[in-house]
Amino acid sequence: MPELPETETIARDLDRLVSGGEVRGCTILRPDVLRRVNAASIGTKLIGRRIERTWRRAKIVVLDLNDGQRILVQPRFTGSMRVIRDCDSPTLPHECVRLALADGRALLYCDIRRLGTFSVVSEGQFSDIDSTLGIEPLDPAFTGARLSGILRSSGRFVKVVLMDQRRIAGCGNIYACEALWRAGIDPSRRADLLSGDDAQALRDALVGVLSASIEARGTTFRDFRDARGERGQFAASLEAYGRGGQPCRRCGHRMIETHAIDGRATHFCYRCQE
Ligand SMILES: [Zn+2]
Repeated sequence: MPELPETETIARDLDRLVSGGEVRGCTILRPDVLRRVNAASIGTKLIGRRIERTWRRAKIVVLDLNDGQRILVQPRFTGSMRVIRDCDSPTLPHECVRLALADGRALLYCDIRRLGTFSVVSEGQFSDIDSTLGIEPLDPAFTGARLSGILRSSGRFVKVVLMDQRRIAGCGNIYACEALWRAGIDPSRRADLLSGDDAQALRDALVGVLSASIEARGTTFRDFRDARGERGQFAASLEAYGRGGQPCRRCGHRMIETHAIDGRATHFCYRCQE
């Protein structure tokens, strides 16, 4: 599932490709991906509007329109956004939404399993959504002290707190495993029992791994594709996620895979993550 680096990659690509573009037409092929808008009204809301900027909040791609509305795309497991040269070209497999642009290109939302969503929201609706999301880990305000405060307020497993979108936005299973491995912290430790030094190490590890993955245009296991339809390159750099049963790259001990922490696959080293 796309996490922060993959969503950031899509948003940066789209910002370069479609900012300034005007929506000329709107075709809904799979209305079940729509949220907060329906197939009958989406054209009225979007046609004639200009895309001013594309950016990311948490795991959501945000397209700011010139009238204050926003398009929000949450790719979830198998969603992707593509820009195609010819807005009249044949429908692509798994295409859900096609926005024709005034310059003749089109912006598509494609989704194999259709668990992702495509929304159109007002400024007020966006503020409501934004207020439910936690701090962005790449925000300079996300310091070790700030993370320490977040961790101290929860008696849950540290990994679960890292992935709680209401507290920290954009971190999912892959980057939680990676950050905890880098910081040498056992994913099943109670968040409120971590020291200030632990929090600082974890903050530095999370920021480091997210930044490195953005540089590599994200991690692709199966389905993630960027706006060019290409795979991210960070999978080769993963130190923990997906490495259960293999030797730890720090101490050589056999890495563990467990589902006991949060029901998802957690990979960690029993020996050097304490
Ligand atoms: Zn180890």
